Amino acid sequence: TKWVYSFGGGTAEGRAADIEMLGGKGANLAEMCTLGLPVPPGLTIITQACNEFYKAGRHLNAELKAQVTSGIARIEALTERSFGSNDHPLLLSVRSGARASMPGMMDTVLNLGLNDETVAGLARDAGDERFAWDSYRRFIQMYGDVVMGLGHDLFEDILEDEKARCGRELETEMTAEEWRAVVVRYKQVIEEEAGEPFPQDPQTQLWGAIGSVFASWLNPRATTYRMLHNISQEWGTAVNVQAMVFGNLGNSSATGVAFTRNPSTGENLLFGEFLVNAQGEDVVAGIRTPQNITEAQRIASGSEKPSLEKLMPEAFGELLAICRRLEAHYRDLQDIEFTIERGRLWMLQTRAGKRTAKAALKIAVDMVEERLISRDDAVARIDPASLDQVLHTTIDPQARRTVIGSGLPASPGAASGAIVFTSEDAVRARKEGRDVILVRVETSPEDIHGMSAAVGILTSRGGMTSHAAVVARGMGLPCVTGAGNLRVDLRNGLLIGGGLSLKAGEIITIDGSSGQVIKGAVPMLKPELSGDFARIMEWADASRRMRVRTNADTPADARTARAFGAEGIGLCRTEHMFFEGERINVMREMILASDEAGRRAALAKLLPMQRSDFVELFSIMHGLPVTIRLLDPPLHEFLPKAEDEIAEVATRMGLTPRELSERIDALHEFNPMLGHRGCRLAISYPEICEMQARAIFEAAVEAARQTGAAVVPEIMVPLVGLKAELDYVKASIDAVAREVIGAAGLPIDYLVGTMIELPRAALRAHVIAESADFFSFGTNDLTQTTFGISRDDAAQFLETYMRKGIIEKDPFVQIDYDGVGELIQIAAERGRRTKNALKLGICGEHGGDPTSIRFCEERGLDYVSCSPFRVPIARLAAAQAAI
Ligand code: PEP
Ligand code: MG
Repeated sequence: TKWVYSFGGGTAEGRAADIEMLGGKGANLAEMCTLGLPVPPGLTIITQACNEFYKAGRHLNAELKAQVTSGIARIEALTERSFGSNDHPLLLSVRSGARASMPGMMDTVLNLGLNDETVAGLARDAGDERFAWDSYRRFIQMYGDVVMGLGHDLFEDILEDEKARCGRELETEMTAEEWRAVVVRYKQVIEEEAGEPFPQDPQTQLWGAIGSVFASWLNPRATTYRMLHNISQEWGTAVNVQAMVFGNLGNSSATGVAFTRNPSTGENLLFGEFLVNAQGEDVVAGIRTPQNITEAQRIASGSEKPSLEKLMPEAFGELLAICRRLEAHYRDLQDIEFTIERGRLWMLQTRAGKRTAKAALKIAVDMVEERLISRDDAVARIDPASLDQVLHTTIDPQARRTVIGSGLPASPGAASGAIVFTSEDAVRARKEGRDVILVRVETSPEDIHGMSAAVGILTSRGGMTSHAAVVARGMGLPCVTGAGNLRVDLRNGLLIGGGLSLKAGEIITIDGSSGQVIKGAVPMLKPELSGDFARIMEWADASRRMRVRTNADTPADARTARAFGAEGIGLCRTEHMFFEGERINVMREMILASDEAGRRAALAKLLPMQRSDFVELFSIMHGLPVTIRLLDPPLHEFLPKAEDEIAEVATRMGLTPRELSERIDALHEFNPMLGHRGCRLAISYPEICEMQARAIFEAAVEAARQTGAAVVPEIMVPLVGLKAELDYVKASIDAVAREVIGAAGLPIDYLVGTMIELPRAALRAHVIAESADFFSFGTNDLTQTTFGISRDDAAQFLETYMRKGIIEKDPFVQIDYDGVGELIQIAAERGRRTKNALKLGICGEHGGDPTSIRFCEERGLDYVSCSPFRVPIARLAAAQAAI
């Protein structure tokens, strides 16, 4: 096996495309060498060697060692130094480099090869005693920490002690003699603590360092990081062994990091920091304040310390030219590490730079204009999920935060407001013009008015598809759910967490993008929807196939969604309209009526209200498709729960509290999600469905007259499992349609379709399609029913499942490709076998999730529908899936 790939002297055995084998760092070092950039010669041990290392019980095999040895001989030849000799000693850096960047998670050893003898050779070569001893003490410290596992503090304590003893403020002030004394003490402490001396043999040092870089792949830090970032344990890390160049060789030397453009604004200006007379870890350690690279950056930051541009103009000029070259080559923002040794620039790393969403948009648009990339490239580059950062108010990344707890990032954006514990208080505060955060254990449909009066929602229970999460996303309100480390103590009116007890009225901030809950108000950044964002969205629209609709229940939702580019409504959950204002009382009258006549009387009062809602929705959507779903939730959801409320409602309905309680008990269900809901309601109480159909058709007639645009309502029947269910409901819809349309004398086209949210419906799709004009996949329920996992109770154990690696992703967030996905595929195929032109869409929460959107594209769906604020994300994700 070829375990080792060499680079240096203008050539390399690997290249950028070999990232899986060489890791990010190794692949790009090789690439830079081939480009003729100044890179210290070195070698990369491939990632597969890491797996071999573990297989062999943490041992390096002889073949690998032999290849490393000959790779080092090549480095010796190129540098005219020799490893382990005190005549021109070669020093090495040993650094990790996985396929994906894992900043700071794994180990590094610098200045390897130094010992009591070679330190003299280094001093002679450099003509600088102090430098040599500084390098030696750095090496012992790193080796003792990383390879011998003695811990950083042990050495830091000695260092601080010696600095104090010598009266030195800064490390740069230490003399050769003083460093020598530090080295003596370091070696002593190692011998004491490890029971063996610091190894003087450079070969021993080398194998020890390589082994510990491999071993660091499985350290807890790295393992956690991989879990959080979806990096496979199997990948392993490569090891890069490279000739040292020294940034700590006096005042004409320096080390730094830079981005080829500003990673937070995207501005096309070199951006970075460096330290004079320092080695890489000093920049990271933050002991000294780094200096700016460009003058522009220095002036902007108000720093007094000279920029690299001023201080070392030649090296700066070269750096600038190299950065241009790298950008032209990689056609992306680069994040680089460099060292200047006595005025000479060396490149130590380059990789695609992490950036904010705002910067990503600007850089992509600028690079199209600079003809570096195509429009499709630009669209493909933007992480759809990151658009949340530009669509919502966000916490200023510079802001200090006192985090008191955290939960699920259920609806993005951030908001600060006073704590209220009830919806009534939220509404009252809103009237007084105060911003409030509604804090609940969980929310129910009764909280709608309180939620819409709040600037943010926080619940201690519930998952990503809990009521609070779904409604907040729909309203574009920031929301954190399932904050289990916070306690909502309603009895005493306290929010308890992070060692604090906060009362109603105290200010908190929630960050619905990270799930953090923060004490007090925090500086925020406003959204920015024009400019670069608009350009990218325009290019995305040009490349996508699927349509993007929105889930909108109210005119406000519909308007927001239109502004974000929604191409119609894919789901209007009509029940949400029944909670507004007075309607809930009429709804309760209907539910509590003792016979059909009573129900019809109440429904007659609801009809004009529904009709006016639909007229408004049709007008806002102006000819775009609007899908209206018949009533879905079980009726008891509309009834009061708290005792005082029961008393109040009873009076209003002319019942005794006891009678009302009995009615409520009679409607109680053990498992409401699988209970008397969906089309089952329309079958038990056809008059409800008739009223809704009438409201829809009358509204369509009215809106068509008002706007002059054709209105084609799409009526959707929820929770169908049997064709007969759909047929029954469809018959009553058709009858109402004939009557209303006939009376109006205006031709109105309409569609009747069904949601596919039960496995049986998916399996029997070819039969159901005979009666359906369209299918809309209700993947919230379909996930729930396929897994047999209650969407409202899943948050807790799904988290355990993810932590224990039983599942990778919450299936309520990202479509379960294998199970739910297969049902969707079956339904799509079977449905279209019956009806070629059957329109297919998705309206579960997955309709706004980029990975799930890719799935929908692959399965040939016609559209996705998502909450208004996710519409731009869906437009972008749909384009990326199609490119
Ligand atoms: C679904 O089940 O995916 C759906 C969209 O309906 P709801 O969330 O209202 O049950
Ligand atoms: Mg559903």
